[in-house]
Amino acid sequence: MNKRIVVALGGNAIQPPGVPATAENQFAAVRATCQHLAEMIRLGYQVIVTHGNGPQVGNILLQNEEARDVVPPMPLDVCGAQTQGFIGYMIQQSMGNTLPEVTVASVVTQVEVSPLDPAFDRPTKPIGPFYTQHEAEKLEREKDFVMVEDSGRGWRRVVPSPTPLAIVEKEAISTLLAANMLVIASGGGGIPVVRDSEGRLSGVEAVIDKDLAAEKLAADVDAQELMILTDVDAVAINWGTPQQEFLGELSLQQARNFQRQGHFKAGSMGPKVEAACRFVENGGETAIIASLSSALSALQGNAGTRFVG
Ligand code: ADP
Ligand code: MG
Repeated sequence: MNKRIVVALGGNAIQPPGVPATAENQFAAVRATCQHLAEMIRLGYQVIVTHGNGPQVGNILLQNEEARDVVPPMPLDVCGAQTQGFIGYMIQQSMGNTLPEVTVASVVTQVEVSPLDPAFDRPTKPIGPFYTQHEAEKLEREKDFVMVEDSGRGWRRVVPSPTPLAIVEKEAISTLLAANMLVIASGGGGIPVVRDSEGRLSGVEAVIDKDLAAEKLAADVDAQELMILTDVDAVAINWGTPQQEFLGELSLQQARNFQRQGHFKAGSMGPKVEAACRFVENGGETAIIASLSSALSALQGNAGTRFVG
C-alpha cells in the first residue's frame, strides 16, 4: 500500500504575500501548490491535504462587517465552513487539471473541542479586521468580544484556540481514502464544535490551530508521515539572532529540549514543532517542517527539518 502523508499547507500556499486577495491570485498560488502535491503523488504517496485559512476567514469577516446593514453577518464557525468550501474548490479544480486520473474530494470538517478547555478562559488568537479603540470598546460592550491592541496596528478581536480532540468526519475521510481518493480535510484547523450532554454538536467561536489539527488528522488516518509546509526552509534555533541555526534531523528528545528552551514562537513555529512532536510521539514515522518550494526534496531527506522518534 502507498505511504500516507498528511500535508499541511501554510498561508503562502494559497495567498502569496503582497498581492491583493483576488480569486485569480489565490487560484494562481493554489495551482503552483498543486504542482508540488502532484510530484508527491507521482512518487507513490497517498496525499491528504489540509490548509490554513487565516487571511481568507479574515476577509470574509471584513465583508460581513462592511455589509452588516444589508446582509446578516455570519458567526465564525459558518465563516470557517465557507473558507473550507472555497479553498477546497480551488484545490479540487487545480489538482484535477494537473492529474486528471486522481479523484479529489473536500470534506467540510468539524473538529470537536472540550467546552472545559482552559483556552476558553483566555482567548489568544487574533482574527479579522483591525478596529479603532472606540469601535473595539463598542464591540466589547455589544457583542461580548474580547479585543486587544495588536502591536500599534489597531484593535483586534481575539478568540480561544482550544486543543483538537476528535475529527467528527473521520469515518467519511477514511472511506474516501480507502477508495483511493485525494482528500482535502480539516481546513483552517477544522470548524470547532462542542458536544452537549445529549451528544449534540454545535459550533463555537474559536479557532483551532491548523498544525495541531493536522496532527490529529494524520494520527486518525494512520499516516506514516506528516509534512508541514510553510514559508521558511526549516526550523531554526535562535531564530532571528546572529546565532540562528537551521536544524536538519531531530530526535523527539532534542526537539522537546529546544522547545523547553523557548526557541519556537507561539502562534507561528511553536504549534508546528508541537504538532511534529505529537505525531512522532503518537507512533508516526516522520514529521517534516519545510518550505513549500522545497517540499519534494524535503520528502527525500534533502531539505527541511525532520522529526524522528
Ligand atoms: P503558516 O502560514 O505556514 O502557518 P506562520 O507564519 O504561522 O506560517 O509560521 C511560519 C513563520 O514562523 C516563519 O515565517 C518564521 O518567521 C516564524 N518562525 C518563528 N520561530 C521560528 C523558528 N524557530 N524557526 C523558523 N521560523 C520561525
Ligand atoms: Mg500559522
